[in-house]
Amino acid sequence: MEVIGYAAQSARAPLAPYRFERRDPRPDDVVIDVLYCGICHSDVHKVNDDWGTTHFPVVPGHEIIGRIASRGANVSKFREGDLVGVGCIVDSCRVCPECRAGREMFCEKGVTFSFDSLEQDGKTWTYGGYSTRMVVDERYLLRVPNELNPASTAPLMCGGITTYSPLRQFGCKPGDQVGVVGLGGLGHLAVKLAASMGAEVTVLSTSRGKEEDAARLGAKGFVSTREPGALDALVGKFNLILDTVSATHDLNKQLTLLRNFGTLVLVGLPPAPIQLEPFALLHGNKRIAGSNIGGIPETQEMLDYCGKHDITADIELIKIQDVNGAYERMLRNDVKYRFVIDMMSLKA
Ligand code: NAP
Ligand code: ZN
Ligand code: ZN
Repeated sequence: MEVIGYAAQSARAPLAPYRFERRDPRPDDVVIDVLYCGICHSDVHKVNDDWGTTHFPVVPGHEIIGRIASRGANVSKFREGDLVGVGCIVDSCRVCPECRAGREMFCEKGVTFSFDSLEQDGKTWTYGGYSTRMVVDERYLLRVPNELNPASTAPLMCGGITTYSPLRQFGCKPGDQVGVVGLGGLGHLAVKLAASMGAEVTVLSTSRGKEEDAARLGAKGFVSTREPGALDALVGKFNLILDTVSATHDLNKQLTLLRNFGTLVLVGLPPAPIQLEPFALLHGNKRIAGSNIGGIPETQEMLDYCGKHDITADIELIKIQDVNGAYERMLRNDVKYRFVIDMMSLKA
């Protein structure tokens, strides 16, 4: 079927309208009218080819909320008119140990991401949510809790699961001291989620102007990291630090802020390698870990959790025609705290 989206034709090119074909729906597929799509910094990295892996033209978008327009004969879990989410993952082999364990992002045959990724046929490129319609197998669809606002739920599809998963993996619990580095799309969700789990959260930010917001989001502490000596009072404080920063920055000082046996989890994906000072890691048996989104069952668990705890993103709703300005503003660190595209603006 023919679909209209917004694509970048080459690295750093502005996004512009682009017509393309999606596969005809199969018996297990649903066709979704896309309502909202969040803008994750990974979309910006991909369009700018920061990681050197982008296949152009690229239609970004992996924080998708839509309504089911039609469904194939085998679809049993969803109906026409259901509000659904699509995140980073749209297919995988389904039979390898990782797929069976619900960790489809690590599929041994190769996961299919929702954009700039190869379908399981190994040759068809995927195009993301900055588009009018998606065709997705129901196995990879998420149910959106009724009580959540659909537009501000969109960022949960990547930003939410990417921060929820490491908080769960590293056992975030009441009374823990959790540091969140970078108060952006991921960071502000990390603050809300960690606070809801009973942790005492401190935000480490390069932006002094975000202090009031940090408190409103649930943080007990705030440190402006560019001010000399600002981190000194935090040495040895944290059980867990979630680093959501999109740009290359120093980790060695951050490691000193961990308690002994504490963990610094990287979820940000800066484009350059990191210099590590071994003593900073060894002293106190500190750990550095990574965490990559989350599988389909955990994403559903996160959405249900957010429904129960009334957690969504703080968003700025924009028209698709304003997407290039939004990318520029993200690079200037000027967004509170997630842009979400109203996809009806593409049909208008
Ligand atoms: P974002 O909204 O742009 O937020 C990034 C934050 O990093 C900014 O708000 C800013 O916070 C801080 N920052 C920016 N430039 C900085 C610099 N030069 N030095 C120090 N801090 C800086 O981005 P996002 O959408 O949250 O994504 C964050 C990163 O996570 C990106 O690299 C993205 O690709 C990655 N990501 C990873 C996964 C995963 O699976 N692990 C999933 C999604 C995204 P302050 O103003 O508070 O300093
Ligand atoms: Zn993302
Ligand atoms: Zn697999």
